[in-house]
Amino acid sequence: MPSDTADSRLAAIHDQIVRAAAQAQRDPADVQLIAVSKTRDADAIRPLIEAGQRVFGENRVQEAAAKWPALRETTGGIELHLVGQLQSNKAEEAVALFDAIHSLDRPSLISALAKAMDKVGKRPACFIQVNIGDEPQKGGCAVASLPGMLAEARSADLPVAGLMAVPPLNLESAPYFALLAKLARDCGLSGLSMGMSDDFETAVTLGATHVRIGTALFGARA
Ligand SMILES: *Cc1c(COP(=O)(O)O)cnc(C)c1O
Repeated sequence: MPSDTADSRLAAIHDQIVRAAAQAQRDPADVQLIAVSKTRDADAIRPLIEAGQRVFGENRVQEAAAKWPALRETTGGIELHLVGQLQSNKAEEAVALFDAIHSLDRPSLISALAKAMDKVGKRPACFIQVNIGDEPQKGGCAVASLPGMLAEARSADLPVAGLMAVPPLNLESAPYFALLAKLARDCGLSGLSMGMSDDFETAVTLGATHVRIGTALFGARA
């Protein structure tokens, strides 16, 4: 069935991005689709690469380090984004492996990343993750700490590209996306990493520059 191929799933998501961007009078080329391949093995990922997808997201350094060096040999131009929490002792490995880090969430990680970038000689784009719903169990810095975090990251010479957030589960995402967009504007940041399988169209209408999509591309996770 055509609806079950990587090609058609990818095309369907691109279609939805184009339509959502049009609604907000945005250029769809300003929205990057990150295919979140956590928990998927190489056999599940390869069809998407063959369908033309080059930008992928992983949430664990160890898992990504096991899968991606071999997959990267199949084609050039692969871009890898870390979308999960990062421990400071894995900063160096993360900097070497990833092209962008979406989970800059605390001051201790700023210094670890700055040191790792100097050592590795590579400076992946960083997104500051904001705990946009003020949830105790969730990663991300508090909204009130954002200006301080940003100042610290900039003075450590981290290339801060924007903000990232995961809104509270089971609540309407739109107000949280709108708030993240406002925070980014106030900080003078243009990157907005927001929107997942269930809410990426809303995120695009509200300014997302990076949508992180797993389930809608690969099917449900085990
Ligand atoms: C897993 C994950 C995603 C993708 O979620 P889906 O609902 O499968 O699209 C996006 N962002 C982060 C931070 C994730 O951990």
